[in-house]
Amino acid sequence: MFRRIARRFLGTVTRVNTTASVAALTFDDGPHPEYTPRLLEILERHGARATFFMVGKRAEKYPEVVAEVARRGHTIGNHSWNHPSFPRLTGSQRRQQLRHCASVLADTGARLFRPPFGHQDTASRLDAWILGYDVIAWSILADDWLDHSPDQVFDTLSERVRPGSIILLHDALFCAENQKHLDRAATLEAVDRLLTAYPSYEFVTVPELMQRGRPVRQWWQRQGEAEWLDRQKSWEGGGEY
Ligand SMILES: [Zn+2]
Repeated sequence: MFRRIARRFLGTVTRVNTTASVAALTFDDGPHPEYTPRLLEILERHGARATFFMVGKRAEKYPEVVAEVARRGHTIGNHSWNHPSFPRLTGSQRRQQLRHCASVLADTGARLFRPPFGHQDTASRLDAWILGYDVIAWSILADDWLDHSPDQVFDTLSERVRPGSIILLHDALFCAENQKHLDRAATLEAVDRLLTAYPSYEFVTVPELMQRGRPVRQWWQRQGEAEWLDRQKSWEGGGEY
């Protein structure tokens, strides 16, 4: 009983229950001055809309890209100020991360939060709730942070896409280890191919998807498995995020 109520109010959205051919593409860790505009062109060409979970520090650096994403009818969500793992912060640090990012996104930002690395515990979920955020995770990963070819990313996406899917991709990725942004060409090409291969699918924003069926909410608790923490070490800091 308690779990059911908790899941209803504090559950994390992973997908939507629907039989319609509709899904949501989401792009994390941007904006990026080169890859995000290229992605916008691809989406526009296919008449698709998407959701961009932006890192506040990057949004502050590229306000013209943020404005363009909003102008084209996409949804912008909060991905924290500089991408720390939330369970490792104090409550006030977490709320500051959310507020700081929101202040940069201003009225282009929706009250949607995607936790950095997907890391979440009960306390961090409550902080998002206190500030009025719905938390959005995903049902499909294409591991596009690895050095995959466009074929590999496309194959994963086309094998897994279902009605109501929420797909996680990245329009920017900063690697602190070698202080550079990773090439996003494979992700962009895979998206282009997905949109070409599925003309009957409608790709919409997360708020639109949530209107098209019943959001599936899960009790999402992740605190950084060893593998994720390793990746975090190489992505964290660096001052670039
Ligand atoms: Zn991220």
